[in-house]
Formats: sequence, C-alpha cells, structure tokens
Amino acid sequence: MAEERRDQRDGRDAREGAQAVGEPWRRRVRAEEAQAWDALVATARRTVSDGLVVGTSGNVSVRVGDIVLVTPSGVPYDRLTPDDTVGVDLDGRQVLGTLLPTSELPMHLAVHRSTDARAVVHTHAVHATAVSTLVPELPSVHYMSGALGGPVRVAPYATYGTEELAENMLRALTDRSACLLQNHGTIAYGDSLDQAYDRTAQLEWMCRVWLTASSVPGLSPTLLSEEQVAEAGERLRGYGQRG
Ligand code: 13P
Ligand code: ZN
Repeated sequence: MAEERRDQRDGRDAREGAQAVGEPWRRRVRAEEAQAWDALVATARRTVSDGLVVGTSGNVSVRVGDIVLVTPSGVPYDRLTPDDTVGVDLDGRQVLGTLLPTSELPMHLAVHRSTDARAVVHTHAVHATAVSTLVPELPSVHYMSGALGGPVRVAPYATYGTEELAENMLRALTDRSACLLQNHGTIAYGDSLDQAYDRTAQLEWMCRVWLTASSVPGLSPTLLSEEQVAEAGERLRGYGQRG
C-alpha cells in the first residue's frame, strides 16, 4: 500500500483538490502518533478476524492530542503499513497522509468533538445490523446494556458518510457509549481502542442473544427494567480487578 501511495505522490496526488506538496498534511508522523496508528490498524484487523466486519466495511479512529487518526476509505486493513498513517484535525482538515480518510469521518469527528472519546469503532456486525432493521431500541435482554449507558438506541437511517447520519447518531448516543445505525451497523466509543472494540463486541453479542431468544416460536424473552439495567451499570463500574 505504501508503495502505491508513493506512486500517487510522484505522479501528483490522485485526489481531486489535493493540497500542494509542503502543506501541513505532509508533516512527519510523531512517535506517539506512530504508536497509536499501529494500535488502530491492529484493532481494525481484529474487527475483520473476529467477524464483525467483512471486507472494507467499518472504520476505526483514535485520538492523539488534537489529531484524530482514522482508517483510510476502502483499503483492506491487511495492506496498511506505518507509511499509510492518515490523520485529520477536529475540523476534518487532513494533517497526515495522502490516502483519503474514511467516508464516515463526519460520524467519527462528531463523537470526538462532543464526547471524551479516545477511540471510535464502526462495524457492520451481522446480528447488530439485523436488529437495527427490526426495532427502534434493542430490548434489554441482558444487563450488559448497563455497560453502554443503558438501553441501546437505533439511530434513524441516513445515507452513509453524511452529516445527517452523524446527527442521527449523536442523538442516539445521548448518555450512551454505543448505538445501532438503522439498516447499517454499530458505532461505539471508549477511552481506548480496546474499550471501544470491547463495547462493539458486547453490543453484537447482545443483539445475537435477543435475536436467538426472540426467535423461539411461542415464547418471548423476559426483559429487564430500566432500573435493573441502571443498577447493573452502576455495579459494572467496579467490575474486575482493583486499579
Ligand atoms: P470506508 O471504507 O470509507 O471507511 O467506509 C466503510 C463504511 O462502513 C461506510 O459506512
Ligand atoms: Zn458503515
């Protein structure tokens, strides 16, 4: 991938309206950014190897200071090298790299601008996407929705990559760290790539539980009340090992 990109540079940039050589987006990648890029690529590859993403669906971002590193649009994650680092500022101006940033930049930037997120993961995970076509909110079949801030909402459909989708998503994320995108997929954020990834995997798992339980003929799953979910959410703050 890096080689392909160098060719693009040499033969003038392939992007329409590309900035000239020497513009800030060609600045060198700093050590902290290089480290974050490696972690971002590892997370993106994991979404594929764990079956949450097929092909180049989905995207990942991680924040380093005021820079947001993002996966490039339409590039298979196994082809990404350190030379492919893509970074934008919070206004979406590209400051690192020459590959086009993800088409879902409006969603990633909306989360980074309006929350304390350090990382965002978007997928087209199969059970979550299926649920997004059925209900306006994931029924509370499991207390783990407490770990996402409460019952998981479905953001109304809008075309991928649009500001409208980002707006719908932000509303659905109110007091939540994840939501479904109608007829599209998932989005989750966290204070690290691992946390954003884990929330995505938990959401996909809960959607699978609901689909499984609700597909038994003649029976329907018991649901938890908002209070029960909130209580579990409180308790989950102290889950795991000390420190
Ligand atoms: P990108 O390849 O541009 O990141 O798009 C994938 C996607 O999931 C669009 O919704
Ligand atoms: Zn998508």
